[in-house]
Amino acid sequence: MRLASISVDLDSLPHYCRIHGLPETLLDERARTLVHAVAVPRFRELFDSLGIPGTFFAIGEDLEADPGAAAGMRAAHEAGIEVASHSHAHDYALTRRGAAAILEDLRRADAVILAATGARPEGFRAPGYTLNADLYAATVALGYRYGSSAFPATPYYAAKAAVMGALALAGRPSRSVLDTPRVLLAPRVPYRPDPTNPYRRGEGAVLELPMAVTPGVAFPFIGTFATTLPRPVLRAAWNSCRRDAFFNFELHGVDVLDVSDGIPAELVRQQRDLRVSAARKLERLREVFGWLAAERKVVTLRDAASRLAPSL
Ligand SMILES: [Zn+2]
Repeated sequence: MRLASISVDLDSLPHYCRIHGLPETLLDERARTLVHAVAVPRFRELFDSLGIPGTFFAIGEDLEADPGAAAGMRAAHEAGIEVASHSHAHDYALTRRGAAAILEDLRRADAVILAATGARPEGFRAPGYTLNADLYAATVALGYRYGSSAFPATPYYAAKAAVMGALALAGRPSRSVLDTPRVLLAPRVPYRPDPTNPYRRGEGAVLELPMAVTPGVAFPFIGTFATTLPRPVLRAAWNSCRRDAFFNFELHGVDVLDVSDGIPAELVRQQRDLRVSAARKLERLREVFGWLAAERKVVTLRDAASRLAPSL
């Protein structure tokens, strides 16, 4: 039986302000906690209505700052949703901080998630999807079962690949040429990393479950595109992944939010997918989750890792 996992990175809005260079003072108290207060229940309702589990990647600092977020993670854990670690501070430069600081960041996230849910996280997703040997070593030291950080597309590449991929899937291949950063050489299927270069295959103890990218045109099948691209393009992308034993669908909390939820206009201007109504995005996600559930067994990433481990 082919497997699929659905995971949601719960980056709160302050992290988006940091990406876009906007002051966090744009956010009032409600906006700061919007992802946990509003997006988490929407995802839970989606999972429940389809009878499937999911994986939430929580940021330690967000749970520390918001007791409601911590309570929400406990309730999710108790309902069978996996709560995994998305680091403590969500530092985009985490891989450059040195081994000791990296380990300390991951340890703090573990402690906060354990305190919230009563269970230690078994999976890790790197902030900004950036992995290196130090960060991989920290996940080994902390005894994680899996990591899910490899996304064979840099942000620039992802935006360009999405447009090119959409054109190619629509039968109008672009003549533009993509360069090939090192991450693009990472396997697009689950693998055991080389600890000295986790984007290469090796014999590392912690499995890597890369996020879904279609074969060939490397179209990144992630929430931002799933909620905003024309349905036939998305359906074609899904069809092209049919033969993969495992499908790892990655989303963000903001994928089910819109401007009427109270996101500041300055942020919406930078993050275009926020202009699409939450109702429309939820309707699309319900449909896409349904595609996964109709053809595959949908499991948490933790369960996918334990089912896939013996063959890797
Ligand atoms: Zn993130």
